[in-house]
Amino acid sequence: MTLTLPDDVLYRLINARRVVALTGGGVAAESGIPSFREAHTGHWAQYDVSELATPQAFVRNPRLVWEWYAYRRMLAERAQPGVTHYALVDLEQHYPAFTLITQSIDGLHWRAGSRDLIELNGSLRRCRCFESGHIAFAWDDDGEIPPRCVQCGSLLRPDVVMFGEGLPHHELRRARQAVEQCDVFLCVGTVGAIEPVASFPFVARRHGAFVMTIAPEDSIYTLMADYVIAAQPGVIASELVRLIVGDVGGLEELQADAL
Ligand SMILES: [Zn+2]
Repeated sequence: MTLTLPDDVLYRLINARRVVALTGGGVAAESGIPSFREAHTGHWAQYDVSELATPQAFVRNPRLVWEWYAYRRMLAERAQPGVTHYALVDLEQHYPAFTLITQSIDGLHWRAGSRDLIELNGSLRRCRCFESGHIAFAWDDDGEIPPRCVQCGSLLRPDVVMFGEGLPHHELRRARQAVEQCDVFLCVGTVGAIEPVASFPFVARRHGAFVMTIAPEDSIYTLMADYVIAAQPGVIASELVRLIVGDVGGLEELQADAL
């Protein structure tokens, strides 16, 4: 698809130095990752969310909670990063500072190659032990379920934010700082309108950033945007990268005109 952007928009994108991108379920769906609700079907529909995805459920029935997240980890591991995931890696490599904030727990941004990455809801790639918070990237899948922490022996749980839990402080602080300092804020695909994330475009604008949303449907993120590309990100991602990074004819003229 050919993407054309107004000169002033292109000028902001090309000349930005600190960029924040925000993703969520929309980009994950492009890789076939089901949302929580979509995964909560079939065998799993017999269980209430409070039995599967809360810390209290883990205390009561750690095996069931482990298996629910193991199922979702399996779906994520089978999926492949899509064109939007890779476009965001290209942008990270282009800009002096580029922070990707995601609500997704599937780990696909990491697998694609994004490294200045804040996974606000945690990641299925990691576990942490219930008692002490020791992080584990590998565990024994053949023995006891859930497996135990090799450091302290307590049960491992997925290092994701369950219902009723707050976002991790360190990640949230890093995200807020990046949002306050950016000069372009990109909202890429459908993103859950859940606080504090829903406030990020407001915060970015208040600090002078240009806010652009790429999404097919209206949301708080399109309402808040200075400019909206009403499309699936996967359809225009490559073209957007080409416009920003690539060999754009007449770029110097464009920059001079926009000044
Ligand atoms: Zn431990």
